[in-house]
Amino acid sequence: MSGTFVGMPAFPEAAREAVADATLRGNLRHATHTIRAKRAAAVAEVSDWAQLREAGRLIKDHTLRRLDHYLVQLEEAVTAAGGTVHWAADADEANRIVTRLVKETGESEVVKVKSMATQEIGLNEALEAEGIRAYETDLAELIVQLGKDRPSHILVPAIHRNRGEIRDVFRAEMGAWGRPAPEGLTDRPAELAEAARLHLREKFLRAKVGISGANFMVAETGTLVVVESEGNGRMCLTLPETLISVVGIEKIVPTWRDLEVFLQTLPRSSTAERMNPYTSMWTGTGDGDAGEGDGPRTFHLVLLDNGRTDTLADEVGRQALRCIRCSACLNVCPVYERAGGHAYGSVYPGPIGAILSPQLRGTASEIDASLPYASSLCGACYDVCPVAIDIPEVLVHLRERVVEGGPVTRAGNRVVLKPAKGHGAERAAMRAARWAFSRPGALRAGQRLASRTRGLHPRTLPGPGRAWSAARDLPTVPAEPFRDWWQRTNGGSAEERTAK
Ligand code: SF4
Repeated sequence: MSGTFVGMPAFPEAAREAVADATLRGNLRHATHTIRAKRAAAVAEVSDWAQLREAGRLIKDHTLRRLDHYLVQLEEAVTAAGGTVHWAADADEANRIVTRLVKETGESEVVKVKSMATQEIGLNEALEAEGIRAYETDLAELIVQLGKDRPSHILVPAIHRNRGEIRDVFRAEMGAWGRPAPEGLTDRPAELAEAARLHLREKFLRAKVGISGANFMVAETGTLVVVESEGNGRMCLTLPETLISVVGIEKIVPTWRDLEVFLQTLPRSSTAERMNPYTSMWTGTGDGDAGEGDGPRTFHLVLLDNGRTDTLADEVGRQALRCIRCSACLNVCPVYERAGGHAYGSVYPGPIGAILSPQLRGTASEIDASLPYASSLCGACYDVCPVAIDIPEVLVHLRERVVEGGPVTRAGNRVVLKPAKGHGAERAAMRAARWAFSRPGALRAGQRLASRTRGLHPRTLPGPGRAWSAARDLPTVPAEPFRDWWQRTNGGSAEERTAK
């Protein structure tokens, strides 16, 4: 993976600052709760959602098992349609290929469709080092780029910013990147969108090279698919004369019938839309060859491995490659909601980042060794995942790998795995819980004592626990333990009623 995030501290350390930032927590809470409620409503409308989810899982698993076959089929189809396929083993090779292709056009600027793969390899930085300027055209990516920031969400990269912050970024930075922000720009969404539209329009019309990723690649015809909401992708894919697409090898589906499943599940899972607003599909150079119609005259597809083959070799971990980047798991994750995306030290934050980044990067750094612990294992991510990735299962599996890695050692500049800090305290807490749960009388007495003394309970923990509770609210103990309430309202203890 890209070296952009190498050197990040472990997740707990990186998250500490984020959880203490009340504005950030407010922005994240508002955004994630809004998206998750809309998604739940959109999914509830579909009576066969469970079948679609299972179909998505089966298609992806089948394709991953025969990836070698489908990749060759895709290459043949793309080549037959006038495109050129390049194979990149890692980020450096992909960056070298793309930089060379742009240089061969004689251009020094490109427009970009939002793409996780190009972020993963640090393409913008690699192009900049060679004197090529890349303009992000997705609104949220533009905000991140202008603000010299880092993305913190797969779908909404500027989710950590509120409207006032975005207005300030536009006012301060747009001028340095071309057209300045309009005089008196306010934080009204319509005004912000119009400022971005005016800023980007001239870049679309001027650009000779477009760079994209792809949500899907159809092996049988060599067709690439980009799914987006703003129309900026359509502009980047159709206006420039040369199009370069960098796509992870796992994004392949065998047939158009397979694609149909994901075009139903992705919009509802990501933006809670029944149908995606802009779905662009292209096969090779198409109409562009004839000098008329839409589409580029030259098309290059860079197929990116960058750790995916190694991930595929892990029987438990390989299910992470099913991911269609909908971000539903981020929006329901209680850890992501509080820590935000930057703490994950990767372009893939949240639950999917916690299982994908350590596998793609080889769990060789402190941040990667800590990511499998960035979860409460509540399972909400699995429940919403449209391709049924059992994220908790992979997290536990990766924790085993971290623990088996033993104490930290260094080989050159590589840091070998070590168990995350705090395991001693965790073991002591588990021992205490086992003792209490195996003694019902003691547990009940403790619950009653806690209820009767609830007015005396502190709102923050003392001693070493103070840091933990500084960024969290301790739950209020109920006035009456559940078992007593049950006995009072149901005429007997839960155990007695179960026995009847
Ligand atoms: S893991 Fe599942 S829920 Fe999360 S982004 Fe990927 S497809 Fe969506």
